[in-house]
Amino acid sequence: MLEVKGLSVSYGKHHALQRVDLRVDVGELVVILGANGAGKSSLLRALGGMQKPQPGAEVRLDTQDLLAMPAHRIVEAGLSLVPEGRGVFPDLTVMENLKLGAYTPRARQSERANHERVLELFPRLGERLGQRVGTMSGGEQQMVAVGRAIMSAPQILLLDEPSLGLSPIMSLDLFRAIERIRELGVGVLMVEQNANLSLRIADRGYLLETGRVVGQGLAAELRDDPEVQRAYLGSH
Ligand code: ATP
Repeated sequence: MLEVKGLSVSYGKHHALQRVDLRVDVGELVVILGANGAGKSSLLRALGGMQKPQPGAEVRLDTQDLLAMPAHRIVEAGLSLVPEGRGVFPDLTVMENLKLGAYTPRARQSERANHERVLELFPRLGERLGQRVGTMSGGEQQMVAVGRAIMSAPQILLLDEPSLGLSPIMSLDLFRAIERIRELGVGVLMVEQNANLSLRIADRGYLLETGRVVGQGLAAELRDDPEVQRAYLGSH
């Protein structure tokens, strides 16, 4: 289980995230909704070790203290981040990108099984293992990014706006794959602009406003909440 307590991030005098508490259980899909600038990326980047939080926070994956670790050790501990913009290597092939995901000793032990898993999740990648990623469509590149994270054998997967820039059909395909990743027992924490689609597949959600958690609940409850519908689901 990922457990976060009192997480704050500041950029100079700007408080992007203020004392955020949240948790993600094994095999649970949790979505974070929030307007532009609410602090969603700052939250994921802090959890992934890419952004130093303010002192006083606690971030634990089971018994492991993630805040004491540099980013590569966090991956080794079982938490992988797919950043906004994907972070794939465009000049390398699909196969090379996937292999890079399995760089930790723990992931190398299960490299073959994870590779099979990625091809089951994204059969299209199997047909294109030798293709340079820079020549692929946005949706295919997102598959590579998620696939690379799966190669690191995560217990918790963080996804920052995975459907950004994808067509509706591609988004649906990707969301189906994310549901299957949850069924593998991985906990998924996802930031999404597509509130409608993400609340349909999520178990729970948190609402983030100007750096604070202002609401949380079961995804089904949030979907039915008139305030949430007005603010995030485009209803009037
Ligand atoms: P979006 O949906 O637009 O990506 P977000 O919810 O992910 O937004 P963040 O990217 O976490 O929000 O940004 C939160 C706030 O912190 C914003 O006001 C942003 O301008 C500010 N911010 C983010 N990164 C930096 C940085 N490196 N330096 C200064 N301010 C930053």
